[in-house]
Amino acid sequence: MSEQEFRRALGYGNAALDLLKRGSIPPYPQFYELFYTYSTGVNPELNSRVNAIFREGGASSELAQRLYDEFLKAQDTNERISSVSERMSRRLEAVHDAIDTAMASASAYSGTLETASSDLDGAGDAGSLRALAQRLLDETHAMQQANEQLETKLEASRQDIADLQRDLDEVRRDSMLDPLTRIANRRTFDEGLIHAMQDAAGNGHQLSLLLLDIDHFKRFNDTWGHQTGDQVLRLVAMTLKSNIKGRDMAARYGGEEFVAILPQTDLDGARIVADNIRRAIQSKELLKRSTNEKLGRITASLGVASFHVGESAGTLIERADRCLYAAKHAGRNRVYSEIELQLRDTAAA
Ligand code: GH3
Ligand code: MG
Ligand code: MG
Repeated sequence: MSEQEFRRALGYGNAALDLLKRGSIPPYPQFYELFYTYSTGVNPELNSRVNAIFREGGASSELAQRLYDEFLKAQDTNERISSVSERMSRRLEAVHDAIDTAMASASAYSGTLETASSDLDGAGDAGSLRALAQRLLDETHAMQQANEQLETKLEASRQDIADLQRDLDEVRRDSMLDPLTRIANRRTFDEGLIHAMQDAAGNGHQLSLLLLDIDHFKRFNDTWGHQTGDQVLRLVAMTLKSNIKGRDMAARYGGEEFVAILPQTDLDGARIVADNIRRAIQSKELLKRSTNEKLGRITASLGVASFHVGESAGTLIERADRCLYAAKHAGRNRVYSEIELQLRDTAAA
């Protein structure tokens, strides 16, 4: 390691420790790693989340743990995949070995048969015939055993490979979900939106997008704590999911923001869906699980936009975001689409 590299790494390390101190977060290895990564700046999304937390003065071990789980533990997926593929290649090697052994004994056996047939030509007396028959029997027996062994090994491999397949499916499924709410994560959403846009452009159907942001959620967290906040996030995710149809996709966009992709839905339809979701969230009376204490209600604001063929995903999201922002501005707990935006602008003119 060069002197320069050493200094750079030391700089990151010191910066990480400073941040831990500033947030009164214990310097456990995972938190150190989190802030070390932050100091290197390699992950802009992580950095903007950390910045927001420090700006709000809300740094805590729980938040650090959540960020760690989200940004760094995510590499577990890769580890899990490489462990599965390692097991898979070990398994395949064992199958190859078993097949090699079986082939070697098959070719030895056919060698024996050939020698036996030439021996048979030369064998005159009963004694040598008997010896020959015995040798053939022994060899056949050995061959049978080799075959049985191969079968057993292949059967074990078959089961192992089925287990591996299941593990891989599980890793794949997990990597598509947000760990907290168990609905689609941002990456799955990004891919889903591109697909939905391609479909809409192809079949001429309408496509709408809905963006949801919980109102005054910071206040809720500050009052009731992050863990209760997390339960609310799960509740909102479930409410969102249960108010959309099978072909729609609900996802956690980040923090306390959610999205839904609504294929084959025009703006009016999407406004109705959005308002149903809004009302469903507002109607839930929140109870603290551990104590049954009443926590009141929460509300959410929603922005709705419809896809214009030819526009990018970014532009569509931006329009929905603008509507969401207008809904917040107009007093929260409401749905805004471009229609409401226009009405507002006309009224203001
Ligand atoms: P607004 O009505 O304008 O949306 O106000 P807000 O307080 O909801 O918005 P702001 O963006 O100021 O704060 C969002 C808060 O969401 C900050 C943070 O406390 C909380 N939050 C973000 N992610 C999580 C999470 O994973 N768990 C919990 N419990 N809270 C989170
Ligand atoms: Mg927000
Ligand atoms: Mg909010």
